[in-house]
Amino acid sequence: MNARTLYPAERGNLGLSFEYFPPKNEEMEIQLFQTVADLAIFAPTFQTVTYGAGGSTKARSLTTVKRMIGEVGLKNTAAHLTCVGAPKAEVDAVIDEFVACGVRHFVALRGDPQGGIGSAYQPFPGGYESSAALVKALRARGDFEISVSAYPEKHPESPDVAADIDMLKRKVDSGATRAITQFFFDNDDFERYLERVRRAGIHVPIVPGILPINNLAQVVRFAGLCGSKVPEAIISRLAHLDDQPEERFKEASHIAAEQIVDLARRGVRDFHLYTMNRSPLIAAVCDLVGYARRPANRTAAPSYRAVATA
Ligand code: FAD
Repeated sequence: MNARTLYPAERGNLGLSFEYFPPKNEEMEIQLFQTVADLAIFAPTFQTVTYGAGGSTKARSLTTVKRMIGEVGLKNTAAHLTCVGAPKAEVDAVIDEFVACGVRHFVALRGDPQGGIGSAYQPFPGGYESSAALVKALRARGDFEISVSAYPEKHPESPDVAADIDMLKRKVDSGATRAITQFFFDNDDFERYLERVRRAGIHVPIVPGILPINNLAQVVRFAGLCGSKVPEAIISRLAHLDDQPEERFKEASHIAAEQIVDLARRGVRDFHLYTMNRSPLIAAVCDLVGYARRPANRTAAPSYRAVATA
């Protein structure tokens, strides 16, 4: 065991998945595929590519997924899909395109209301009225793996956690096979949530979404929008390091690794990391936890240059 790792290998392997977003321009695309290549060394169980609400990233999400599966060879790539703001026929056509690219795993979502987070959700005329309806449609179309969202600290639109758990149950009863959570930093919140989910008779894996903090101000702002808390203890570990990038990086990697290891000690086996399309902090977290680096093989991606010239 590497002396610096926090989670002893003899306690058993932990699962890992990564989330990426579709790049907006060529420079971001180079960065994304370099990140994918850098992180493939950790042989994630799967990686996902997000999809903008209302189809705002449709073309870019499709291109990214197609390249990951077809060119890089990452067959275990999952496509996020939202159903808000689009008729069923349009969503179904996107499902067909993803399937034609080789997708066998969807992350099925409703998406934020068209007026943005906080505005009232209106089902689109002739569209899937909810995430559960989208899951049901996907399940009717094939034997896909279907992941859905979960909110340990409550979704901003929900009156309470019970309403969130009801929605999660509807999604699982419709055919979802896994839930991935919104990012959170307080593991007690997650554990309480998990107990309530299990009491509600939901038995699919609930995979914590872990967000290593590259930029504290941005994460605090984003957490406010999503209804997640950033505990004072974390703010005080990072806030004074604005002008010390190396120390900030080290502290941020420890915060995320400690969160993973604490959850692992509570019995959690799988972790989904929000990469923000950058590898250094994610790789540092994985190394610190003790995830094995594997030589390029099954899931290893060629470097971006090799992909570009392939
Ligand atoms: P649901 O699970 O359907 O609903 C979330 C909660 O909102 C429910 O539990 C319920 O209590 C409440 N709710 C839902 N509908 C109603 C209603 N009509 N009235 C009252 N309450 C209601 N967004 C993107 O745009 N693209 C992505 O790729 C993406 N990926 C994500 C991945 C993960 C793992 C997570 C956690 C979130 C992701 N999101 C993404 C964000 C997500 O789209 C938003 O949080 C959105 O507001 C809800 O979509 P959902 O599928 O989570 O909703």
